[in-house]
Amino acid sequence: MNGLEDVTAEAAARWSAAMDYPVELGEGGVPVELALRIPRPDGSDAPGSTTVTRDLIRINQRTRGAQLGRTLVHEMGHALGMVSEYARGGVIDAEALAEVCELYPCGRITPEGEAP
Ligand SMILES: [Zn+2]
Repeated sequence: MNGLEDVTAEAAARWSAAMDYPVELGEGGVPVELALRIPRPDGSDAPGSTTVTRDLIRINQRTRGAQLGRTLVHEMGHALGMVSEYARGGVIDAEALAEVCELYPCGRITPEGEAP
């Protein structure tokens, strides 16, 4: 059973590795909370969202399994400063890293899915 905390820690570890920079969560970092619903303007329910001020990631309580991992990786990108819709499939790609590393002093940038 992969709880929200485990999946969040895993997503943070993957961003840290791809950025070569420690991504902090919780106190002093990006908080993640469960939400009962995350309504879109059209009335449907989103799997997750990040506030425009990037200080809170909300995860829909119905988001589970593989979708939970993908959603957290994507939303964490927004929290780190990603403004476009990259990393949507849950893979930390070069485009997402380019946006995030404009704001953070990334070390050796290593997009996922490429040979190190
Ligand atoms: Zn997004």
